[in-house]
Amino acid sequence: MTTELPSPIISADGAPYWRAAAENRLEIQQCSDCGAYRFPPSHLCRDCGSDNTAWVAVSGEGTIYSFSIVHRAPTPAFRALVPYVVALIDLAEGPRMMANITGEGALDCAIGDAVRVCFEDRGEGAKVPQFQLAEG
Ligand SMILES: [Zn+2]
Repeated sequence: MTTELPSPIISADGAPYWRAAAENRLEIQQCSDCGAYRFPPSHLCRDCGSDNTAWVAVSGEGTIYSFSIVHRAPTPAFRALVPYVVALIDLAEGPRMMANITGEGALDCAIGDAVRVCFEDRGEGAKVPQFQLAEG
């Protein structure tokens, strides 16, 4: 990977997510009242409306809900990566997130495949959660 790839743009709502990623942890919000997990970050729980929220580490395990293989880079920074996989991942805890599938066998991935989070270095301490096919 090259550090020419864009670094995360960190909003106030997403800052805990990026701080955890920089330390190789996947953290998302969990409602402290009803226990529902949510991603992307939001002020209120989508299930019960509570604003009582905690950031918690999750397993980093999930399955591929859907994916697409990118053959034309959207910007010059991604040109060296094509072809690459952009996928929707259903986390074991429930929320769905978008990420790249990277590593061995990524281009042969399929809907329903088990994946595990990994962390892509974007330079200056920033890391982006991505996923790779789970072994076994
Ligand atoms: Zn709730």
